[in-house]
Amino acid sequence: MLARGTRHHSYVGETKPAKFRSLSSKFSRFTVLLFCWVMMLIILWDVRSHTFDIAKAVTMGLIVALVGGVISRFTMGALARPLALLQQGITSVREGKFEPIQVSATHDEIEYLGESFNQMIVEIKASQEEVRQHRELLEDRIRQRTEDLEKAMRTALAASQAKSEFLANMSHELRTPMNGLLGMLEVVLDSPLATDQRDELEIAQRSAYALLALLNDILDLSKIEAGKMMIEAIPYDVRTVLEDCVKSFQARATQKKIALHFEVDPQAPSKVIGDPLRVRQIAANLLSNALKFTDRGWVCLRLAGIAEDSRPAGISIAVSDTGAGIDPDKLAAIFEKFTQADGSITRKYGGTGLGLAISKRLVEMQGGQIHVDSKVGNGSTFSVTLPWSPVSEPIALSLAPRTPQSLESASHSPVYVLLVEDNLINQKVVQAILRKKGYRIDVANDGRDALAKLEAQGDAYNIVLMDVQMPVLDGLETTRIIRKDRRWDRLPIVAMTAHAMNGDRERCLQAGMNSYVSKPVQPAHLVSVIENLLNEWSHTPPPPPVTELDRGLADRLMLEESGMANDLLEVFLQLAPERLQFMEAAASASDGSKLTAEARKIADAADQLASRALGECAQRIELAALSRDFPAALQELETLRRGIQELAALAV
Ligand code: ADP
Repeated sequence: MLARGTRHHSYVGETKPAKFRSLSSKFSRFTVLLFCWVMMLIILWDVRSHTFDIAKAVTMGLIVALVGGVISRFTMGALARPLALLQQGITSVREGKFEPIQVSATHDEIEYLGESFNQMIVEIKASQEEVRQHRELLEDRIRQRTEDLEKAMRTALAASQAKSEFLANMSHELRTPMNGLLGMLEVVLDSPLATDQRDELEIAQRSAYALLALLNDILDLSKIEAGKMMIEAIPYDVRTVLEDCVKSFQARATQKKIALHFEVDPQAPSKVIGDPLRVRQIAANLLSNALKFTDRGWVCLRLAGIAEDSRPAGISIAVSDTGAGIDPDKLAAIFEKFTQADGSITRKYGGTGLGLAISKRLVEMQGGQIHVDSKVGNGSTFSVTLPWSPVSEPIALSLAPRTPQSLESASHSPVYVLLVEDNLINQKVVQAILRKKGYRIDVANDGRDALAKLEAQGDAYNIVLMDVQMPVLDGLETTRIIRKDRRWDRLPIVAMTAHAMNGDRERCLQAGMNSYVSKPVQPAHLVSVIENLLNEWSHTPPPPPVTELDRGLADRLMLEESGMANDLLEVFLQLAPERLQFMEAAASASDGSKLTAEARKIADAADQLASRALGECAQRIELAALSRDFPAALQELETLRRGIQELAALAV
C-alpha cells in the first residue's frame, strides 16, 4: 500500500522520466551550493571589514570547485553506480531474466539492498524451477491420462462397431432359422390337430413372433449404428402406404375395442419421393405403441402437408391416442434406446424400449424430426415431420407391378413353381406350404441355377418364387436378366425377402418382380399372392405377338389412325439424337435431376406420339434416374435408342 501523499512513478524499461536527476548530481549540486554560500559569506565579511583579498577569493573558488568534483565522484561511486546496477537487475527480472546483479562492496545499505535483491532472485528461481517441475509432472499425467482415455475409447468404439457389424452381418443368419421355425409352425398349424396341441403350438408361434420382432428391432438398431442402414429415395404414394399401415392394425384395435382412424388433410401430398418402407416402419411403430398404451377411446393417424411461405415443404404424420400418457420427466428419455417411461406399465404391456429410438434415427436419417406431446392420463401425440419431395403422377404409376404374361394352361394342369432359394430350411418350408395346395415345385439353389433351369424348360413354369439375398447371383440381378429376355419378360416373379419388413420392396418391383412376400412366409398369404397373380394372368388378354419392330409399327399405325400430324413425328425424330446424347451424358455423370428432366420430356413426347413402348421405356429411365440407378438407366437408354431407330425406319 502506498502512503497517502506519496507520489508513485512507474518507470517502464530503461527510459528515464524527463525530470529525472541522479542522486549524485543532486548531492554534488547541494554541496557546491553550500560551499558557494559559505564562500560568499566569507567574501562579504572580508569586504565589510575591508580585508578583501582577490587571491584568497580565487583560492576559495578553486577549493569549492575541487570539493564539488570530489563529492560528485564519491556519490557516483558510492550511490549512483550500485543503484544503477540494482535498476538493471530489476529491469532484467521484469523481462523474465532472473540473473543476480553485481553488488558493489560499499558495506552499507546499498550493498545490503543488492545482496537482498540477489537472494530474492535465487529464491524466485528456485520456486520457478519447482513450479516448472510440478507443471511438467502435471502435463505428463494429463498426457498419460488422455492417452489412456483415448485408447479406452478406441477400444470401446471398436468393440461397439464390431458388435454392431457382427449383428448387422448376422441378420440373415439369425432370421433364416426363425423363418424356418415360423414357417414350419404355420404348416403344422394348418393341419388337423387336437385342441390342446393347437393351443400349445399357438403359444410357440406367438413366442416365436415376439422373438422375431425383438430380433428385428435389435438388428435394425445395429444396422443403423454400424452405418449400414440405407435410406432410399424412390417415388411412392404416401397416402396408400399409411392407409395400408393403419389397416394392418385394424384387427388389433377391434380386439381391444378401440376406434382406429386414418385422416388425410386435403393439402397432404400423395406422390412423394422417399423411403416408403421406413415411413411405414415409423408409422407402424407409433401406431403399435398407441394401441399398446391405450385401453379405451381412440387412436388416430393423421397425414398433413406442411407449407413454408405458402409453398409445400414437408409432410407431417401424427399419431394421437387417448391412452395412459407419459410423465413430463420421462418425455425426453423415451427416445433413448432401451428406455421405457414407466417400468410397471411397460411390464404390463411388454416391449423393449427400442421402437422409438429406431424411429427417431430413421426420421433423422430422412432429414426429419420427431416430437411428442403428452399428458399423463390424457393421451399422447407423436408427430413426425419429413421434408417433402413431390413427384409427377406417371412415374409413380410406373411402379405398379408388371402385368404377367398370359397362361392358357393355368386352369388345367397343376401350377408349376420354380422356387429359387439357397437356404435348405426355407426350401422345405415353402415346399411344404405349396405341396399342400397341390402345386408342382422345382428348386433352384441360386440365380445362376434358376437361369439354367429356365433355359432348359422355361415355358413349363407358371411362376417363380425368388429369394433376394443369395450367393453367386442374387434375386434382383437374376430378375433383371430374366426380364431382358423376351421369352420370359412377362413370367410372374414373386420376391421372397427377409428385407420386406425392413428393406426394399420397391427395389424388387423395380427390378421387374410382380409382387413380394416377406419372410417368415405365411402360408395363406403366399398362396393368395400366387393365386392372385395367376388369376390376373389368366384374365389378361395376351399381348399382340409383336417383335420390337412390329410394336413400333403398331405404334405408328395408332399414330396415323389417331390422325396425328406427321410433323410431330418428324420433329421428335430430329430432336431425338441430341436428347439421347444429352441423357447419356447425364447418366454417365450421375446427374439424376438432368436425366429425370430429359427422360420426362421424351416420355411426354412419346405420349403425344401415342407410342406406348417408347413412353414406358422413358418412364423406366426416369425411375432409374430418381433412384440413382445409373447403370440401369444406361441400359434402358440403349433400348430407347433402338426403339427410336425402329420408329425412324418406319417413318421413312
Ligand atoms: P417399447 O414400446 O418397446 O417399450 P418404445 O421405444 O417404442 O419401446 O417406447 C418407449 C417407451 O415410451 C414405452 O415403454 C412407453 O413407456 C413410452 N411410450 C411410447 N409411446 C407411448 C404412448 N403412445 N403412450 C404412452 N407411452 C408411450
